[in-house]
Amino acid sequence: MPKIIIHDTIHSKALDFLSEQEGLEIIFVDADDRSKLLANLLDAEAIILRYLPFDRECIEASKRLNVISRHGVGYDNIDMESANMFSIPVATIGDVNSVTVAELTIYLILSSAKQGPRHNMAVREGNWKIRENADAFDLAGKNVLVLGFGRIGKKVAKRIQSFETKVFVCDPYISQDLIKDAGCIPVPKYADILHNMDIVTIHVPLNTETELMINKNFVDKMKNGYVLVNTARGPIVDTSSVGEALVSGKLFSVACDVFDPEPPYNNNPILNSPRSILTPHVGGLTQECSIRSALRAAENALAGVKGVLDKKFLVNPQVLNK
Ligand code: NAD
Repeated sequence: MPKIIIHDTIHSKALDFLSEQEGLEIIFVDADDRSKLLANLLDAEAIILRYLPFDRECIEASKRLNVISRHGVGYDNIDMESANMFSIPVATIGDVNSVTVAELTIYLILSSAKQGPRHNMAVREGNWKIRENADAFDLAGKNVLVLGFGRIGKKVAKRIQSFETKVFVCDPYISQDLIKDAGCIPVPKYADILHNMDIVTIHVPLNTETELMINKNFVDKMKNGYVLVNTARGPIVDTSSVGEALVSGKLFSVACDVFDPEPPYNNNPILNSPRSILTPHVGGLTQECSIRSALRAAENALAGVKGVLDKKFLVNPQVLNK
């Protein structure tokens, strides 16, 4: 009987979907139960994986795996070199969470501009005087730089344009006409325009090129009093450089859904700034999106078991030909 491992929890609707399939063994492995994981990988044909690392040891332990089905779109927690070497397909959920992450990004931008949480707290604490030093700002007329014009970046650009902003996009890996057709301004090199951006929002994948992309050099080139938004991955941002810019006032606000590590350490300087807007990696966790994501991850796992994987969900479709 084909075995599917569910590593960590997924929505009950996806469990119902898998339970309705005939002749399937479903094994639940808790986040911290590595020995159970390794033992079950010996004969599992699919695994549904959330944020936990899937390293070389896991891949070497997997003798019959037809698919690693990521419950998400980032796959930086998987040792892709080993997955490719052992010809194990890696599937993601495609575009089912992009609208949800784009909406959270707009919330973070708006909260930063309007200083929502700080004003909310002031009212509750009876601090009406905060009005005398109010420093919220308009989005209309502002310059926004979108880094990465994939599934999420495109949706963020479309939504933020409706606030009468001017949207610049840096994504050297796609046709620049796609950016123009969306009413945005393509930017081959972001370093040349950072001094003119009011809001920078990050939507690139985490890889060796983008790790620490937002470093001291990047921050130094930025305009004073800007907003940085990260709903992509924590390690793309150098926390100490951004923390220093927050303390010095060069940065007006940092809005983050993702951290390095997660959860963040208490001494992370971004946590200490009253203007920072923080959410606990909930970019894809609305009620609707949790169901869509879990179902897509379950469908991909089942497709792996049946040998009918859809290439459009694979990040390494080339391994199917091996
Ligand atoms: P995607 O693959 O559709 O798009 C990424 C885009 O970034 C691509 O167009 C690519 O060409 C571009 N890119 C790659 N390297 C670049 C670089 N150095 N400079 C500029 N552009 C570059 O991915 P997506 O689905 O839009 O996801 C974007 C990010 O959001 C990923 O980091 C993903 O892990 C993250 N994410 C976070 C959450 C959350 O819960 N917060 C949920 C989903 C996705």
